[in-house]
Amino acid sequence: MKAERMAEPYFVAEGVCPICENAVEFSSQTNWLRDHLLCSNCGSIPRERALMRVIKDFYPHFAELAVHESSPGGRGVSMRMSRECAGFSYSHFFEGVPPGELHPDRGERCENLESLTFADGSFDLFITQDVMEHVFDPAAAFREIARVLRPGGAHIFTAPLVNKTRASERRAARSASGEIIHHFEPEYHGNPVDPEGSLVTMNWGYDIGAFILKHAGTPSIVVQIDDIGAGIRAEFIEVVVSLKR
Ligand SMILES: [Zn+2]
Repeated sequence: MKAERMAEPYFVAEGVCPICENAVEFSSQTNWLRDHLLCSNCGSIPRERALMRVIKDFYPHFAELAVHESSPGGRGVSMRMSRECAGFSYSHFFEGVPPGELHPDRGERCENLESLTFADGSFDLFITQDVMEHVFDPAAAFREIARVLRPGGAHIFTAPLVNKTRASERRAARSASGEIIHHFEPEYHGNPVDPEGSLVTMNWGYDIGAFILKHAGTPSIVVQIDDIGAGIRAEFIEVVVSLKR
């Protein structure tokens, strides 16, 4: 019998990681590169590298900016921002903690994207990573994020635009009494602060830009990057940039 060896990866490429800036190997054991094409140095995934690329391309002086991230995952772009931006802050939504206050045990600030406690024009950049498909009132959330941005700033975010050219659809809604109404089979994604995960409320499509413009007044562009030399290759890794005028 031959000794067992590691399975050959499904895909391997060499390049420079936009997040850790090292010459690395990007490799995936499966064909679902979106979650598995890892940087050998920092462990980042393609959508995180695409987001970092867009932040650097649009705001190369990002380290000098007031940056807020909602619901960071404690890795990749979030870690780099917290390290390099003196003006970086972040928040999570915690059930039962008054928005604007700190979680009594975790010491982290609670904010509800649909009703932020920050003053108008507080930030240059607002970052969310795979969060906007989980909010119950995305119109309010986009409006609030636009409100707390300064002119010339932007909400830069990833969200899986799974519907592509089909119209965006609401998967789940919240009634006036707070009851959750499911329009599709409930689907949950991992949540860094909730082991039960986050319910997916929206199947977004490329019409997300029109939705944001209508509700928040900020014109948006959807940036699609394929650059294997930067480890950026996968489905559903578009980066949306909503510009505050
Ligand atoms: Zn890396």
